[in-house]
Amino acid sequence: MPNGTIVVTGASGFIAKHIIVELLHRGYAVRGTVRDLAKADAARAAIARAGANTDKLSFAAADLLADAGWDSALGSADAVLHTASPFPIQQPENDNDLLIPARDGTVRVLEAATRAGVKRAVVTSSTVAILYGSGLPDGHVYSEADFTDETRSELTAYIRSKTLAEKAAWDFVKRHGDAPRLTAINPGFVQGPALDGDLSTSHGLFQLMAQGLYPAAPKIRFPVVHVHDVAKAHATALENDATVGNRYLVADEALMSLYDLGRIMAELLPDLAGKAPRFELPDMVVRAMAVADKRLRTILPELGKVKQYSNAKARDGLGIEFVPGRSACEDSVRSLRELGLI
Ligand code: NDP
Repeated sequence: MPNGTIVVTGASGFIAKHIIVELLHRGYAVRGTVRDLAKADAARAAIARAGANTDKLSFAAADLLADAGWDSALGSADAVLHTASPFPIQQPENDNDLLIPARDGTVRVLEAATRAGVKRAVVTSSTVAILYGSGLPDGHVYSEADFTDETRSELTAYIRSKTLAEKAAWDFVKRHGDAPRLTAINPGFVQGPALDGDLSTSHGLFQLMAQGLYPAAPKIRFPVVHVHDVAKAHATALENDATVGNRYLVADEALMSLYDLGRIMAELLPDLAGKAPRFELPDMVVRAMAVADKRLRTILPELGKVKQYSNAKARDGLGIEFVPGRSACEDSVRSLRELGLI
């Protein structure tokens, strides 16, 4: 299919821009959707700076919250890679601000793709749609066989939004025989070079640390993955029919902590050493602080948890040898400094 046209939703996003670079390198024509066409030129420039030839890149306007634009964006496309979904650094007052664009937006994209006769779809889910099941024993090794239980009351709106969106996608293709054949990619916390100043939460976190906002770090551990591996996973899934009907946990297997991220920033940029977290906070202190600091509420479900998971399916099925999480974070920090953002 390298002569085909691939629609990538949310083309102004961090991960989407890297996926587009990968697809253009592989020879595809790419139509990126943005909710505001004013962002198209900046996205094109960032993708070109990353070394891609953008002659076969075009843009279309479409918002996950409205039907307008999706039919024409998906017309005559061979496949759609659906990455668009809100990923704010702070949880909103109203959960629906995330749930509706994530879940209903995914269905809207798949409906339009079905009407347009698009044959393949890859959705960008998350490890958060895997790692919060109910009733699992201590020491459970998480894998693609696990689904987050979105009814758990302590989960953030973001975790629920990604879980409900992925479940809605699988449900849609089960109910519609003419729907595109689906694969889901479930990345851990994505790090790697920022291509421009339109920062994702992945990089916003480093910016907050560089401002000295977190002199101490909550004790949380999470999976990390290099954005190049995420881009490769999407493109390889698209090209490999054996991935249809499957989800893939894509992350390096070594967990990282916020404190680790701060140390990496301090080592690479000694001028910021005084700003990075200097120690880890006891969980009780973090819970108390979260009453006043909404950003901290995002990580409450992680406190005190050390989760094991396997990336074997992605290594075997997508042929990915994962870049270590530490290198991914180093690439983030270097790029943010080069862009003058930290
Ligand atoms: P970004 O914030 O950089 O990108 C999100 C994209 O979604 C942007 O293009 C944004 O558009 C778009 N978007 C948000 N709301 C809407 C809407 N209502 N209609 C249309 N587009 C919308 O985030 P990332 O690149 O980091 O994330 C991309 C995807 O990857 C998301 O699905 C996220 O959940 C998932 N993911 C991210 C991880 C990470 O660590 N970064 C980890 C695992 C999964 P605009 O520019 O206009 O705001």
